[in-house]
Amino acid sequence: MASNKNKFGFDISLGRQINYDANNRNIAEYLFDKEPSMRRCIECGGCSATCTTAGFTTFSLRELMILIKRGETDEVYMNLKKCMLCGKCTLVCPRGVNTRNIIVLAKKAFQKSDEYAI
Ligand code: SF4
Ligand code: SF4
Repeated sequence: MASNKNKFGFDISLGRQINYDANNRNIAEYLFDKEPSMRRCIECGGCSATCTTAGFTTFSLRELMILIKRGETDEVYMNLKKCMLCGKCTLVCPRGVNTRNIIVLAKKAFQKSDEYAI
């Protein structure tokens, strides 16, 4: 049987591909515009490590921000509701990202339209 592997010996995992052409990045663009500090995030996970909600649930702000930037937002809104807006993540962020404001803005953005067409 012919192998599909490329010259480096591995296949592209279709399930792990991020289709930026098909994904809806309206929420990400809205947040970049309203809270530019989001562009400074290096996805280090410091916010998640100190997160109050993460201490009791599987909530991960780092993961949610990555999904928003990818435009893979189907599960983000329901998870954002778990945030208690305590602000600890903002205090510890080494890049000065205003995470608390990002969460507040993201909740508003999701509420504007079921289609996220903001
Ligand atoms: S702590 Fe700051 S830089 Fe690190 S993942 Fe969170 S928001 Fe991004
Ligand atoms: S504001 Fe939300 S995301 Fe940030 S530490 Fe508090 S509960 Fe976690």
